[in-house]
Amino acid sequence: MPQLTKSAELFELAKKFIPGGVNSPVRAFKSVGGTPIYMAKGEGAYMTDVDGNTYLDYVGSWGPFILGSMQPRVTAAIEYTLRNIGSSFGTPIEMEIEIAELLSRIVPSIEMVRMVNSGTEATMSAVRLARGYTGRDKIIKFEGCYHGHGDSFLIKAGSGVLTLGSPDSPGVTKGTAADTLNATYNDIESVRLLVNENKGDIAAIIIEPVAGNTGVIPAKKEFLVALRELCDQEGIILIFDEVMCGFRVALGGAQELYGVTPDLTTMGKIIGGGLPVGAFGGKRQIMENVAPLGAVYQAGTLSGNPLALTAGLETLKILMEENPYPELERKAAFLEAGFRENMQKLGLNYVQNRVGSMACLFFTETPVVDYKSAITADSAKYGKYFHSMLDQGIYLAPSQFEAMFTSFVHTEEDLEKTVKANYNALVAAHQ
Ligand SMILES: *Cc1c(COP(=O)(O)O)cnc(C)c1O
Repeated sequence: MPQLTKSAELFELAKKFIPGGVNSPVRAFKSVGGTPIYMAKGEGAYMTDVDGNTYLDYVGSWGPFILGSMQPRVTAAIEYTLRNIGSSFGTPIEMEIEIAELLSRIVPSIEMVRMVNSGTEATMSAVRLARGYTGRDKIIKFEGCYHGHGDSFLIKAGSGVLTLGSPDSPGVTKGTAADTLNATYNDIESVRLLVNENKGDIAAIIIEPVAGNTGVIPAKKEFLVALRELCDQEGIILIFDEVMCGFRVALGGAQELYGVTPDLTTMGKIIGGGLPVGAFGGKRQIMENVAPLGAVYQAGTLSGNPLALTAGLETLKILMEENPYPELERKAAFLEAGFRENMQKLGLNYVQNRVGSMACLFFTETPVVDYKSAITADSAKYGKYFHSMLDQGIYLAPSQFEAMFTSFVHTEEDLEKTVKANYNALVAAHQ
């Protein structure tokens, strides 16, 4: 059992000055109980807390660390840029062209791209663009999908709000809420119904093509194909929110994996290599409507700054050179098989959803294909499971409804240790 004296003290102090003591709600351990852990240092697949405990990390800063924390090449590149270039100019820099060109090579549907500072900014901007381009107001999203904290998206929005048990947020106007329609993930009929009821009013359909914010829910390929067809028929912009699954489930993201091409793509997390970066891009014809070329306004003081772009660029280059995806698949499959074997020994049959290195063990036996089936999972059992894993030095997301990310730097030994700990934690979850 780790001693968490210093973490507990810091959390008490933090609560005086920071709402809930945290700068992002899911960090607060609300759904699993206990005190959030203050980290002091990250390296590779490990993090050390302020009390000196070390953890094997399966959160990876919530997605960015596909290559682990402090990846040596990424760290060296950041240091170089800081010393030799600077952190920001507010003028164009050559590196912006380099990353835009690289992105269009990695993700062929991206003909033009705009860099921003977070996934939230990317999705907000993409939706504004879709509205500006189509002249329509409404959007369709999917129950349980998270697209950042923009007003339009805080309607049935997945883990953060789900964990806190408040599906809608005060402060979002009725008008905004009325313009956001929620369909059922993997259910094309639910989308058709909304499109028919709102004929000619839907600007965009936005979806996580691998949902990762209500646990992990893979999209069925036929479903994405049908969405694409429907959008083409109705002149609706199809937005893939690949902030989490982009560069994660395949180098070219879910659109490469499924072979379905969106009109616009939003990116974040891995594209920043651990620094704050987001991006939205897609069809030239649509992107040409972004200011200053077009009339749809979008801007950012620190957008495309050299420091953040360096971290992202270096990460993308390593991903291209090393092609870690087959190995990530092997590693994550090893964990899945190990967990399955443990459950068999214990007479348990919980659902595991996984796409590459994004995985989730749901404490339910109901197949998880959408939000409704996801929330059949037993959060209280997950809480016990989580704490047992933590006691054994393994850091999972403090919520049932989050992904477990395996990284390139998890070793065989790490994985074996994780499978052993999983057995004990499954036992603990049922005591
Ligand atoms: C994390 C996430 C976002 C929001 O990104 P931030 O950088 O946290 O603003 C948007 N969409 C998806 C799918 C995400 O996973």
